[in-house]
Amino acid sequence: MKSRGELSGSILDAIGDTPLVEIEGIFCKLEYLNPSGSVKARIAKYMVERAEREGLIRPGDTIVEATSGNTGNALSMVAAVKGYRMLVVMPEGLSGERVAISRAFGADVLHVGHFHVDEALAKAKELGRKEGYFCPSQFESEWNVEENRTWLGPEILSQLPEGVVPDALVMGVGTGGTLVGVGQAFREVNPDVKLFAMEPSESKTLLCGEIGEHLIEGISDGFVPGIFERHESLVDTTLSVESEEAVEAMRWLAKRHGLFVGPSSGANLIAAGRVREMYPDLENVVTLFCDEGEKYIQDHFSEEVRALEAENFT
Ligand code: PMP
Repeated sequence: MKSRGELSGSILDAIGDTPLVEIEGIFCKLEYLNPSGSVKARIAKYMVERAEREGLIRPGDTIVEATSGNTGNALSMVAAVKGYRMLVVMPEGLSGERVAISRAFGADVLHVGHFHVDEALAKAKELGRKEGYFCPSQFESEWNVEENRTWLGPEILSQLPEGVVPDALVMGVGTGGTLVGVGQAFREVNPDVKLFAMEPSESKTLLCGEIGEHLIEGISDGFVPGIFERHESLVDTTLSVESEEAVEAMRWLAKRHGLFVGPSSGANLIAAGRVREMYPDLENVVTLFCDEGEKYIQDHFSEEVRALEAENFT
């Protein structure tokens, strides 16, 4: 991989190589710094390039994918660079910035369903079967897991201080690709590493099938994804975090540490902190900050939101 100072072929060469920092004794991987603003830049690039190598996509074809936003943004960027058409299928009710970002990359956005991704998923799969379309199927594809096992996971391991191996990985589940794939990479250096899934308290889909609205966009999309179902035995425990706590932690990360991230990063930090408290022998806990705060300005950082907060405060 090229370092950021070298001459690059395209923006896609700047994906990866994100910093690992220690916050409150937890190792946090700053994936929000990837081009297009999230961890999903990695699977987008990986899955499209795999499809090219396997002859599943040809110049002029359309990539179609169901997403709660970040994968849509990332695939739209990849499609722009590589000259494919992009159709993002996403539900209504998620942050407006995500739609604007995909459109800025030249993608078309089709709204199907409200808030949860299941209906969008069915539509994307249906379109993906048509001639000239390719659907990466992030919720089911082993390529998603493979990227995390072979790229993101080893990158984190290489950044940990000399002699440190991870004892636990804590990660919110959207597709489950990050938790499972990075977890598999960690198990190679520490077979006892504990994997903690995180989901919103308002939508405990993994714990008890409950599906509800919540503010931690990008996780708990309204169904148990195929990846998680297939690899569930790798996961030790599932924790839940309330939306309000996640948003509060997100704001604190910006104010206290200068990390302008989204609610799932706040939720991951809270869950990781709980793991440290509950299991003091798990010393080296790793989590990820998945997307950037810019995607939530309307919902969580706008003047209107500030005014409301001020009202509640007085
Ligand atoms: N946080 C955010 C903001 C995301 O967009 C996603 C992916 N949808 C996740 C966490 C979860 O990642 P994964 O799909 O690998 O489970």
